[in-house]
Amino acid sequence: MHAKVVHMDINNSVKEYLNNFHSSSDEFKQSVYEVFNDIGEYYQSHSEYIKANVLERIIEPDRIIKFRVTWEDDSGNIRINRGYRVQFNNTLGAYKGGLRFHQSVNESILKFLGFEQCFKNALTGLPMGGGKGGADFNPKGLSEREIMRFCHAFMIDLHKYLGPELDVPAGDINVGSKEIGYLFGQYLRITQRWEGVLTGKSPGFGGSCGRSEATGYGLVYFLEEMLRAHHLDLKGKKVIISGAGNVALHAAEKCIHEGTIVLSVSDSKGTLYFKNGMNVQDLDALKTHRLENRKPLSTFTSGEYFSGKKPWYIPADIALPCATQNELDLVDAKEMINNNIIAIAEGANMPLNHAAQDAVISAGVIYGPGKAANAGGVAVSGLERSQNATLQNWDLRSVDDQLRKIMKEIHNRTIQYIDGKNGVFNYRKGANIYGFKRLADTLIAYGVH
Ligand code: GLU
Repeated sequence: MHAKVVHMDINNSVKEYLNNFHSSSDEFKQSVYEVFNDIGEYYQSHSEYIKANVLERIIEPDRIIKFRVTWEDDSGNIRINRGYRVQFNNTLGAYKGGLRFHQSVNESILKFLGFEQCFKNALTGLPMGGGKGGADFNPKGLSEREIMRFCHAFMIDLHKYLGPELDVPAGDINVGSKEIGYLFGQYLRITQRWEGVLTGKSPGFGGSCGRSEATGYGLVYFLEEMLRAHHLDLKGKKVIISGAGNVALHAAEKCIHEGTIVLSVSDSKGTLYFKNGMNVQDLDALKTHRLENRKPLSTFTSGEYFSGKKPWYIPADIALPCATQNELDLVDAKEMINNNIIAIAEGANMPLNHAAQDAVISAGVIYGPGKAANAGGVAVSGLERSQNATLQNWDLRSVDDQLRKIMKEIHNRTIQYIDGKNGVFNYRKGANIYGFKRLADTLIAYGVH
């Protein structure tokens, strides 16, 4: 007797499910479509996935926690924000993923980020599930004490849902080691438990050396692996970078170190262009200007600032979008393709919209999707958890060596289930299939739950 063959049109099923249950979540729908577009054929050829309804089990987040955050500003006004934690999926380990403080934060954005995080974390090979959280809180222009008060107020609710084996948040946009310090201090005050419930802490109190550098450095390590797989290297290449936060500036640092010419960084208002490449002094000054003093790029003293411009029109060999989701559209992608860009690696999560991704992939550009290329941050968060669990502190050298090794392994995982047709690997497809397979096979091994 032959087993019954189950037929389905996966794209329709995904569309129907999302329209029924997530109809107003545009970013989330975008990220789910992208994944199922790539894995459709693979999914359909495995009747065990269809039978176990892996599709809906992977799309639907485990739970979404939403709470009111009440805090007081410096003038004594009582202010309200909405705080969230999306515990997306813990099949592969405790929920793990950052907290984002930005006015754009809403359920759709956090669901998309949580969904991406599940695949990203699966690719690291470490035992981590996916989650994401944050608040629609805009720290721009606020005093240090206001930010501290907000972090403390945010943790009053969040702490109930955390635990070293349950949910371990970290930073994301506008949440760096300073904010993590405020959050961790408040967790300790409330619970009296000094435990690894947050990563991205300062190395002075349980943080890992190299965590702040990890996403940016890891991005460049991944880029080097992609170039090597196509018989190319970084030396002397011209690089355009968007963003001017933790990821962008550490990517720039590693690029300069590896002998490339970094032509740009950017913020939401424009692009800072370095005609002859950014030097180490520029970079150090930029770190102080942006990461410590939180000042706009337009007031930076060196380079040339182009208000209202994105970096993508600058002719270069490599692009590293490190700002935010959907910062790069089809017009930008065509501009880069016309300028013969060789490779694009995403430091941000989903910075290329779907049309832009498709355009660069079909033009034969080497394209590293964020879920693989920017996984270095969460990977070192995984190493921070190991250090916390064993009460150890590893040195920078050891963490950086492990990061390099992990990025190489991630690269190899992304090409495990694809071939390099036309001479260029489709890393998006490879990353989606690998992450999906690990998640889906584990779900099936657990039985129905
Ligand atoms: N927010 C980062 C990301 O997008 C890091 C998450 C973490 O370290 O848990 O991967």
